[in-house]
Amino acid sequence: MLEELYREIILDHYRSPRNRGELSDADARARGRNPVCGDDVTLYLKVCEGTITAARSTGNGCAISQASSSILSQAVVGRSLEEALGLVAAVEGMMRGGPVPEGPQLDDLAALEGVRKFPARIKCALLAWETLKEAVLEYQQRQEGNPGVSPASA
Ligand code: ZN
Repeated sequence: MLEELYREIILDHYRSPRNRGELSDADARARGRNPVCGDDVTLYLKVCEGTITAARSTGNGCAISQASSSILSQAVVGRSLEEALGLVAAVEGMMRGGPVPEGPQLDDLAALEGVRKFPARIKCALLAWETLKEAVLEYQQRQEGNPGVSPASA
């Protein structure tokens, strides 16, 4: 039953991806690719005072990679960059057998847990999260290099 539910959630996100598209004024962005499966995900984040205020994604690939990207876009809005990095670590832990992260906007995340049983697809599920980490770290590095100067005014 649970497996059926997980499949439904993943297919729903795949067919009707949330927050799909580009953010032309994104403060952070990154692209991740999984050549094994042909998955391709680009994330766009709007960041205001250390908090992610909007997230969008584009790309193509298998249902798991695209659903994961859609689930991610719902999960990160309203979180600080540190919380987002913590969430990436928690999702990586979940895919290795750890607990499912719980909290606001995380209901659909549990669906990715079902992918654990298919080791070849774990990369697909993690692609968007690894891409998020890259976008956040790159953004933070840029901020450290330009203290007090936002990319918009630089
Ligand atoms: Zn894939």
